[in-house]
Amino acid sequence: MKPLHIKTPLLKSYPMSRALDRDVWLKMDALQPPGSFKMRGMGYKAVGEVEKGARKFISSSGGNAGLAVAYAGLQLGIPVTVYVPENTGKGAIDGLALFGAEVVVTGEHWAQAHEQAQKELVHAGAVYFHPFDDEDVWAGHATMIDEVVEDGLTPDTVVCSVGGGGLLCGIIDGLERNGLKATRVLAVETEGADCLYQSKLSGSNVTLPAITSKAKSLGALRVCNRAYECLAGTAVDVCTVTDAQAQDACDRFVKEHRVKVELACGAALAAVNQNEHPFITDAAAVLVIVCGGVSP
Ligand SMILES: *Cc1c(COP(=O)(O)O)cnc(C)c1O
Repeated sequence: MKPLHIKTPLLKSYPMSRALDRDVWLKMDALQPPGSFKMRGMGYKAVGEVEKGARKFISSSGGNAGLAVAYAGLQLGIPVTVYVPENTGKGAIDGLALFGAEVVVTGEHWAQAHEQAQKELVHAGAVYFHPFDDEDVWAGHATMIDEVVEDGLTPDTVVCSVGGGGLLCGIIDGLERNGLKATRVLAVETEGADCLYQSKLSGSNVTLPAITSKAKSLGALRVCNRAYECLAGTAVDVCTVTDAQAQDACDRFVKEHRVKVELACGAALAAVNQNEHPFITDAAAVLVIVCGGVSP
């Protein structure tokens, strides 16, 4: 079956390359039809599940993961139900409905919506899509690195943002399967959504008490274990930026590249603009994953 994501442009950023005096490349995954790289992982899992007989997709994400599942279901002719809590914005609900998903608004918090979603799974053929902790999702995200290699680029460093760590795991899988052993990965979080960074500091995979960053798509309280384990070597490191720095990077990105991206994506761009981390200052070619542009 054909993949559900599109091949996205790999652009050299002349403004950023000039500012840093090194090559900065942009993988433009904000241009995926539902607005983020999530299409890769959710689409890959969706195709695999349909081949195994799935007849219904379930999600509990009112963000980019839910949108990607809704879009996958629309393309495959599979009904999708997304459970979201009462505090979900109208924009998010309208976006899901646009792709034909049934949206069930239930519970005060995500955990309650999530619990309700799990009850649906008793129905035969129903499949739940975890937003980040799933090997199939990582395998789908890894296709972005396949494309970069196909386009002839071998980056010294890949910079990406981190919420629950699915994107990070996918990038690492993609580098591995393309034999890019020397490429390092700089994972970036906003302060207040920095579960991976706090885990690095404490030496164990910690759960944040709350999210205080406005970067909605980075709002996981805890990264998946695989993402935490990736910190063990020297190839992966994590740093943080403030929401204000991420917002500045978004504003600058619109001016310089004419594409609007969301705060979660601005985090990765901000770390590149700062040009401080050795993974960036030591690199000749930096690849930034321009991950999405839908959520606030
Ligand atoms: C989901 C998402 C992230 C974080 O991805 P994880 O796999 O949760 O780490 C970052 N940016 C955007 C735009 C997203 O949609």
